[in-house]
This record gives sequence, structure tokens and C-alpha cells, in this order.
Amino acid sequence: MTRRISIFGATGSIGGTTLDLIGRDPAAYDVVALTGGRNIDRLAQMARQFDAEIAVTAYEDHLPALRAALAGTGIACAAGAGAITEAAARPADWVMSAIVGHAGLAPGMAALKQGATLALANKESLVTAGPLLMQTARDHGAVILPVDSEHSAVFQALIGEDITTVERIIITASGGAFRDWPLEKMAQATLADASAHPNWAMGQRITIDSASMFNKALELIETHEFFGVSPDKIEALVHPESLVHAMVGFVDGGLMTHVGPPDMRHAVGFALHWPIRRPLPVARLDFAKLGQFTFRAPDPARYPALRLAREVMQAGGLTGAVFNGAKERALDAFIDGQIRFLDMAAIVEDTLGKMAADGLVHAAMTLDNVAQTDHMARIRAAEAIAARPS
Ligand code: NDP
Repeated sequence: MTRRISIFGATGSIGGTTLDLIGRDPAAYDVVALTGGRNIDRLAQMARQFDAEIAVTAYEDHLPALRAALAGTGIACAAGAGAITEAAARPADWVMSAIVGHAGLAPGMAALKQGATLALANKESLVTAGPLLMQTARDHGAVILPVDSEHSAVFQALIGEDITTVERIIITASGGAFRDWPLEKMAQATLADASAHPNWAMGQRITIDSASMFNKALELIETHEFFGVSPDKIEALVHPESLVHAMVGFVDGGLMTHVGPPDMRHAVGFALHWPIRRPLPVARLDFAKLGQFTFRAPDPARYPALRLAREVMQAGGLTGAVFNGAKERALDAFIDGQIRFLDMAAIVEDTLGKMAADGLVHAAMTLDNVAQTDHMARIRAAEAIAARPS
């Protein structure tokens, strides 16, 4: 029997990895919806190759180009955030959530509401609205499978285990582009410097977030929300080789670890084939050749994002939406050359401080309140950006 599959963020790095795996056994899948943003050529090419039912771009002004590229194919075309969420409501067995940023939340929620299994790469959904997302899955009998390599690793280490016997969860961090740079040099880092990851090939935004460790900060919160483990049991550990993805320690002192090459085809493929394992085209490690793994504690002075993540977990409520919204706005400003690399954390901290007193962060967790909090956080972050000396 074929499985009905949709991919949100199909034109991105994770979307491409997912289609690469599906393309190895195309007869096993019916592709329902594929979505993208500005990369219309790629979206149209993928929609044709996989004979999708519908292709959706996030941007209305790109719709004519998409229509032209798919003319005569019978593939439906649509545009806009609302159309993406509507596409997620189309019945599917398995949905990949790989849009980058807050825009991934609403389609993920729509996919859960129709009972699909949601492969969740979009960690921002859990950071901004973790309790809402998890409750929606429970209410609709839907399953969420983590796709972040660290969280997939934890998920795999927990198979057959009782979560109440978990003593600690350690997620590893490569240290990103600047792991060996002195702090003074990091202050001068350019966009090109921050966009070069030493181990993983990923989209530009997550690559920069790896250099600042905002990515790891999001992942600490993601671990807390997804596995329901208290923040004091969750640690980040720098592991420059990126081969050990996570470790789970239990009350009896036992430790389960997940080891593999830095290749997202493992985590995506695990989620695609879950609950069974199928052969995947990932390299097998030769431990005798590798010789050793190295680890070190992250330097809090270089990575303030990790401290901010702990404050966000303690505060709870809609603080995660503030954190992510401010981070996304600060990242835009760094990409646009408006601020320097280390300013990003200062802007996020400033925004968290300003919005802590705002009643909004204590409002009920609904999609509307999350969206409003995200919007306000971006405004406050923009004010902080404008106030910084150029
Ligand atoms: P990319 O930047 O490579 O791709 C992002 C995708 O989202 C593209 O399809 C892009 O379209 C689309 N997109 C961008 N903005 C919007 C928007 N406003 N509305 C709808 N779609 C939009 O990102 P990655 O694949 O690297 O990451 C995707 C998600 O997966 C992120 O949440 C990331 O944190 C997470 N993740 C990624 C990993 C990786 O290895 N890359 C590992 C673990 C998690 P277009 O390009 O056409 O404009």
C-alpha cells in the first residue's frame, strides 16, 4: 500500500533530504503537497518529478511563476501562508515539517489535527508552542517524531524505556563555525564566516544559529517540551566531531548513546520508516580509524544563548515565542548587515527583559496568542536593533 506524504519546506535542506529518500522508492509513496518559498524552479521541478497533487509557495507574488512552471501538468498551485496551512489539512499519512522559523507552526498544527504522523524538523514549533503542539497531537491521536538529529537520537535511546527513570539527557553541539575562535574575533565575524559549518550541510539560518549556539538553545527547549524532562536534567556538551548526537543517562547509572555520521538522512529516514528500521544510505563508522571522541563544556561567555534558554524554560508560558521571535528578527538583522554577530544575543536578552513584564507572555497558549507574542517580540527586537550604535 502506498503512503500519502506531504513535505512542508520541500525546497530546503531537510525537504531535499526527505525527497532524496522518497525518490529511492517512489512507488511506495503518493505525494500530496509540496511547499516552498522563493525557490520556484526547484518547487516546480520537485512537484513534476513526484507528481504532487498541489504545490504551494509562501509568497503570493511568486504564484504566476509557479503556475507557468506547472502549466499542463494538472498539479494544483496556490500561494500564501493560509494556503500552506490548508494544504497541511489535506489527508496524509506522514507529513514532514521542514519550513524554517515560526511559519512552520500553523501547518504543523493543521497536520496534527487531521491525525497525520508529523516528522518535526521545525524545532521552532516546539519552542514557541510546545504544550499546544503536544496536546493537539494527543487530542487527535497523532504522533510527532523528532527529526533534529539530537532529538531523534534521544527518541531512539528511549525506545522501550520508562521516561521517569531518566536522570539526564545530554545533547551534543559541534560548536559551530567559531568553536575555536577567541571571543574578540567572534565579535568581528562576518556573514560568510558564520555561514560555514564545519560538519553539517544545512540551510543558512540554522548554520548561523549553530555558530551562535542559538540552535543549541532552541534544542534545549525542544528537549524539555518534547520529552517532558525538567530543565535541570538537560545539558549541552560540545563535541567537535558531531558523531555522538545525544546521550541518555538513567537512574541506575547506565547511559545510552546514539552515534553516527553527521548525515540527516539517518534522522529523516528513521522518522520516515518508523516504527520499523529500513536500510539507509548513510556511511558506517570505522571506530578503529576514528580513534577518539572529544568533549568539552560549552563556554558560557561565548554562548549566552544557552543561559537565555534556561531562563526561558524556567519562565515558561509564551516566553519561548518571545525568545524565538526576537532571535529570528535579530538573525534577519545580522544577515542584512545591520548588527554584529554578538549583538544577536544582546538583542534577544533585551527583548526578553522588556517583554517579561508584559501580560501577553502569561496569556493562554493559543495559536493566536503565540502569533501575537511572536509579532510583539519582533517589534521590540527591531527597536533594540535600531537603538544599537552602528
Ligand atoms: P532551509 O533554509 O534550507 O529551508 C527552509 C524551507 O522553508 C525552504 O523550503 C524555504 O523555501 C521555506 N520557507 C522559508 N521561509 C518560509 C516561509 N515564511 N513560509 C513558508 N516556507 C518558508 O532550512 P533547513 O532545511 O535547514 O531547516 C528547516 C527546519 O529544519 C528548520 O526549522 C531547522 O531548524 C530544522 N532543522 C534543519 C536541519 C538541517 O540539517 N538542515 C537539522 C535539524 C533541524 P525557499 O527556500 O523556497 O524560499
